[in-house]
Amino acid sequence: MKKIDCLRKFISQSFFIIINSIRMIVTMPKLDVEISPLAFSKIIDWTSSNTEREVGGYLIGYVEKGKVIITDSTFAVAKSTPSHVQLDEMAQFRIIEEIEKRNGKETILGFWHSHPGLGCFMSGTDVATQKIYQALLPESVAMVNDGNKFAKTRSQSDFQAHFYRTKPDSGYHEVSFGVLTDPNELLGILTDYVQSEENAEKIAQYTARQMALSIDDSLKDLTENKLLLKEQFKKENIALKGDLANIQSEIIELKRNLVATNEQFTSCNEEQQKQIRFLSTLLFILLGIVSVGLIFTLVVFILALIP
Ligand SMILES: [Zn+2]
Repeated sequence: MKKIDCLRKFISQSFFIIINSIRMIVTMPKLDVEISPLAFSKIIDWTSSNTEREVGGYLIGYVEKGKVIITDSTFAVAKSTPSHVQLDEMAQFRIIEEIEKRNGKETILGFWHSHPGLGCFMSGTDVATQKIYQALLPESVAMVNDGNKFAKTRSQSDFQAHFYRTKPDSGYHEVSFGVLTDPNELLGILTDYVQSEENAEKIAQYTARQMALSIDDSLKDLTENKLLLKEQFKKENIALKGDLANIQSEIIELKRNLVATNEQFTSCNEEQQKQIRFLSTLLFILLGIVSVGLIFTLVVFILALIP
């Protein structure tokens, strides 16, 4: 493999995360239900980490021009077995209380639950429950998931998710859904997600891990192709890991600033909030670019070292 090919491979790996994020904003056809990446990924996580028992919770969002927009999801299990789940109904009151404090635009749009290893359909109980939801809100939907295959392969196409509504007489039908595509809304949700202390830490660790893997692969390629000596490989690998640790601590430092910014939110007016949101997002993007730039420079430096 030529030097330039190694470099190209490294760059393409580094941009893996960015490309995946952009893919989420790609426009999709008009659908009955749109679910935010946050709400969907939470459900994927809960479903695929419970392959032995049914789990479930509530879908939160609003209805706009007949379209169901799901902005968030919750986990609310009271009792569960491999083939049955009883949702915690008291959780609904807590959710409504929480929503009213926020804006009042959102409401409970229905429930989601898993069918571990059984595939997606509506059982008699599911239909009866959904009928109650639709009597209260005709647009409400039921989401059924099976994450058992996904739990093994970790391939997104193996995660089964379907949305249903009951028919007026009997039975049910499927409704189409897609992941939320409004870039402004998506940015808002992602900013909120990143701003929470726990998630910023997770993102920082994930990014550092992905970058470390990319560097390992690229350096291995170089040694295999005898472009870099084994000792040199070890030395450069240690140096790069050191730089990565620095980047990670920078991201954690930024996370602290973001959390502090978040606290300021409550004491600011709307205009100031908008500015802070914009600036913190910009700061995060800038740090990302700086991190990628730094690694890129280091790789170019190593390539220059190669005889
Ligand atoms: Zn069911």
